[in-house]
Amino acid sequence: MRLMKIDVLKLREGPIDLEVDCQPDLLDLVDREFHFRKRVTGLVHFSLVEQRVRAKGFLETVAEAECVRCLKVVEVPLRGILDIFYENNPALLTPEAMLGAGEDENLYWFDGEIIHPEEQFREAIMIELPMLPLCSPACKGLCAQCGADLNEGQCRCAQQKPPRAVEEDPADWKAALKKIRLQ
Ligand SMILES: [Zn+2]
Ligand SMILES: [Zn+2]
Repeated sequence: MRLMKIDVLKLREGPIDLEVDCQPDLLDLVDREFHFRKRVTGLVHFSLVEQRVRAKGFLETVAEAECVRCLKVVEVPLRGILDIFYENNPALLTPEAMLGAGEDENLYWFDGEIIHPEEQFREAIMIELPMLPLCSPACKGLCAQCGADLNEGQCRCAQQKPPRAVEEDPADWKAALKKIRLQ
């Protein structure tokens, strides 16, 4: 597997534009809900800023997931934006900092010679995954009784049941909750 690397010696001669076009495996894009089958593309500009290396750019791909309401497989286009720094500073070798969760979450360690940006590229994409993938914001979901896809029309269950109460308004819901709390 070809690894991505940025040679900092070369970076001293001038900025490097890294054109990304790789298989999702290279960035270890694995998730329980989302499947990655499309290539990852993007452009990341590496430059020296005093003692640090700045990486700025974007990465794009498409993930597949099931709509949480109707279970149809949907493609979710993702565009991760990257603007981070690398520094040859041993203080950044803590587990938190390695994961970008240290005091400065945009600052990462590198050994002073070579940068392997895969992990940061991966993060930039994974952070864009939606909490609840939907085929459409208006997806009607499946009938809880017969499992019919309500996007394709009403099922028979709706005719047999008395009409449902008007959809609860979130404001009403909050008011109801307040009442419960006050009791
Ligand atoms: Zn749906
Ligand atoms: Zn039904």
